[in-house]
Amino acid sequence: MWNNSFKHHCNRCQYEWVSAFHSPDRCPGCQSRKWKQDGSLDVGVQSYLPKEAKIPILLRYDAGMGCVKIAIDLNHTFSTVYDVIKETYPQDNVRL
Ligand SMILES: [Zn+2]
Repeated sequence: MWNNSFKHHCNRCQYEWVSAFHSPDRCPGCQSRKWKQDGSLDVGVQSYLPKEAKIPILLRYDAGMGCVKIAIDLNHTFSTVYDVIKETYPQDNVRL
């Protein structure tokens, strides 16, 4: 029975899926909780970064660099770097 299923579309990674929940917590594609938001309304997030672009950010962060230095090093905006780190380590205070 598919009567109780809802079709969802993620505005961040464009993933589409069907679930029994009217409002799932996370997108199964990118694990984002902000999947329902239109990117333009999401202040602080400039653009959705593909996984390949996140890896260099996270490698530097794990090596002890802060957001500001990573942003300069990789030519990203500060908010882009911050968002990637916050998304990956939601429990942590992001090191600036
Ligand atoms: Zn997604």
